Amino acid sequence: MFIQVGDSVKMRKPHPCGSDTWTLTRVGADVKMKCAGCGHVVMLDRQDFERRCKKVIPGNNASTGDNANV
Ligand SMILES: [Zn+2]
Repeated sequence: MFIQVGDSVKMRKPHPCGSDTWTLTRVGADVKMKCAGCGHVVMLDRQDFERRCKKVIPGNNASTGDNANV
């Protein structure tokens, strides 16, 4: 599974706030993501993340190998 910071992901199980969409804020051995509905942040290990993820919606990362200056 190819994922990168800035991508949106849909999880199999919606968050209690009602949103099933999350934004990736860190990708590595662990994946950190923020709920699009309530802003809650969770960290999962990569394997756990890939099991729970339903769909990846690529973010607008135009460049590759370059981190955005934000
Ligand atoms: Zn939420």
